Amino acid sequence: MSFKIAIDGPSSSGKSTLAKRVAKELDFVYIDTGAMYRAMGYYFLNNNLDLNDIDVVNDNVNDVSIEINYIDGVQHVLLNGEDISSVIRKEEVGNAGSVISTYQVVREKLVEMQQEMAKVQSVVMDGRDIGTVVLPDADVKIYLNADCHERAIRRHKELLEKGITKTLEDVEKDLAERDYRDMNRKNSPLKKADDAIEIDSTSLEIEEVVEKVLNIVREKQGE
Ligand code: C5P
Repeated sequence: MSFKIAIDGPSSSGKSTLAKRVAKELDFVYIDTGAMYRAMGYYFLNNNLDLNDIDVVNDNVNDVSIEINYIDGVQHVLLNGEDISSVIRKEEVGNAGSVISTYQVVREKLVEMQQEMAKVQSVVMDGRDIGTVVLPDADVKIYLNADCHERAIRRHKELLEKGITKTLEDVEKDLAERDYRDMNRKNSPLKKADDAIEIDSTSLEIEEVVEKVLNIVREKQGE
């Protein structure tokens, strides 16, 4: 039987770091669903297609093929056969992913893929709607939260390390916009599942969060 761990939360709350660490510790597969929305957004950006126009999205969504591969345990995303794993980490691609993810036609396509992946293996999956829509029957559901200012500080540091200069104010403004869109969209908005355990990571080190989640999983596995 596969074991499923769902991790949801706003941007830069530390979901992917947490999910990767937990997956490694448990020898589960880590599935980064945000990368799939980013890949979809990238297709529209790269082909100069207006992702704010629902007709354009409807006309093009079936031309997009997204595949997930693992090389040495690391997730790679293929868009129509091309590995775009690095380029989708850019800020503008994240924002495009956020816009494209508001469309039901896009969500249906990607949610189906995500559900198929979780059927055949034990997974740690992170995103915005994993506990609510993708894996409503997940064995463990975590909602990872952190104060917006603290998330902006973390994101700003990451960007500086990548050599991208942006003011902390701009990073915080972008995050707040993304949160607003993710939480207020009609289709599968970001929210805590009723049976999710909320962890506020504002004043916690990542090791503490990982330990907390591993304890929750061990307790569940022991039941
Ligand atoms: O998590 P990440 O920043 O990579 O996600 C990019 C965007 O994709 C998010 O802002 C969100 O709008 C969208 N997303 C989603 N549902 C998911 C994962 C990501 O709507 N399960």
